[in-house]
Amino acid sequence: MRALTDPTLLRSQSFIDGQFTGEAALAVTNPANGEILGHVPNHGAAEATIAVDAAAKAFHPWAARTAKDRSAVLRRWFELIMAARTDLATILTSEQGKPFAEALGEIDYAASYIEFYAEEAKRVAGELLPSHRADARIMVLRQPIGVVAAITPWNFPAAMITRKVAPALAAGCTVVLKPAPETPLTALALAELAQRAGFPAGTINVIIGDAIAIGGVLTSHPKVRLVGFTGSTEVGKILMRQAAGTVKKVALELGGNAPFIVFDDADIDAAVEGAILSKFRNMGQTCVCTNRIYVQDKVHDAFVEKLIAKVSALKVGDGFAEGVVQGPLITEDAVEKVETHIADALAKGAEIALGGKRHKLGQTFFEPTVLTGVTGDMQLAQEETFGPVAPVFRFTTEDEVIAAANATETGLAAYFYSQNAARLFRVMERLEYGMVGINTGLISTELAPFGGVKESGNSREGSAHGILEFTELKYACVGGL
Ligand code: ADP
Repeated sequence: MRALTDPTLLRSQSFIDGQFTGEAALAVTNPANGEILGHVPNHGAAEATIAVDAAAKAFHPWAARTAKDRSAVLRRWFELIMAARTDLATILTSEQGKPFAEALGEIDYAASYIEFYAEEAKRVAGELLPSHRADARIMVLRQPIGVVAAITPWNFPAAMITRKVAPALAAGCTVVLKPAPETPLTALALAELAQRAGFPAGTINVIIGDAIAIGGVLTSHPKVRLVGFTGSTEVGKILMRQAAGTVKKVALELGGNAPFIVFDDADIDAAVEGAILSKFRNMGQTCVCTNRIYVQDKVHDAFVEKLIAKVSALKVGDGFAEGVVQGPLITEDAVEKVETHIADALAKGAEIALGGKRHKLGQTFFEPTVLTGVTGDMQLAQEETFGPVAPVFRFTTEDEVIAAANATETGLAAYFYSQNAARLFRVMERLEYGMVGINTGLISTELAPFGGVKESGNSREGSAHGILEFTELKYACVGGL
């Protein structure tokens, strides 16, 4: 790995009850070149139980602090992360592959949740409601829910953590985090900085190892009151079922299948820019990445031509190399899924307009690809490809495209481009999605509630709504007045 300014950020043990602990067991590799970056423990149920018990012990003292006090610790954590952003981005690109500029952007984005919830901690208020009796008062408190388990994916090794952990800690909860096995080093560097920021032992725990064993404890231990998960819909359903046994709250951010609709009254150049941003960011490996591009008849050919010109200019390579905007995919499996989707589309009549195969760099590099003649019966119309493939569908009417866009079990992000004001509202309201980008391909910010409907999830992260997920309402009836 490239040298870090502060090599002590590179931690390779689980962080439990304020201690880094565990024997080296599992290799962490760089997806761009196969380099082994380090070894982390293979912890399981026993260590997960210790971590939950530590979080449970730390809960009451942490929750009892004033919000302003918790806020100050979060703020210090934010500042330490910003001061270490180059090192953190270096660790992130090394284990995840995304271009270094994108990694820096992710660190800033991840830190923004900590900054925001440091502020929001102080604004979690209760209510005094009009009472049903003259001699009573109705008081409503918002209290922290308790120990929070967070299970996160590899595509945003920093931001998916802070989006859960920051609001949880701000609300007064303590946390046991299980990061993705592909990207534990970013998570552990964040834990190191959290310790330096002054979070008490047990407040944040990071456990690395066997997902199924750890997940089993996190979803069944009676002290865990909320399980927050970002990842595949399949695993989300498993965790939800497991959490039912102890009636935990589950906050899920699952897969998407984002449509991107270009109407014939759109600014075509802007639509092409938006399509590139929403399709090719992180090599197509985000849950809000465009998965289906629908273009209206009249502008179809012009859009495709401009799209091909832009996509063919995307430079592929190691995330640290100058000018690279497309790194490797995360694993060989990810490449195989992309190949399967393309082969299925071709067999059903689609055509390759650009790319379509592994990149000459080898490893897990794939050529940025544009397909035309794509139809709803193809695999890539029905599930997330999670790779650098832009499939273009042709449509005629607004009703037809809304029906097609909504014909999926998922409902995370949707995008459309139009310059017609009436259409903006009409289409936005009819799209069955938690988030809609109108004339923009970039929607993520800590200031807005991020989340999906249908099988894409049941919670929101970001904004003032995001912290309320980690609180419980308590109603106190004060009588005899
Ligand atoms: P992805 O395809 O992004 O890897 P997953 O849903 O498989 O999505 O993984 C997201 C996170 O869920 C990772 O941290 C992974 O280790 C974890 N995970 C996968 N399976 C389980 C499970 N059965 N129990 C708990 N966590 C799991």
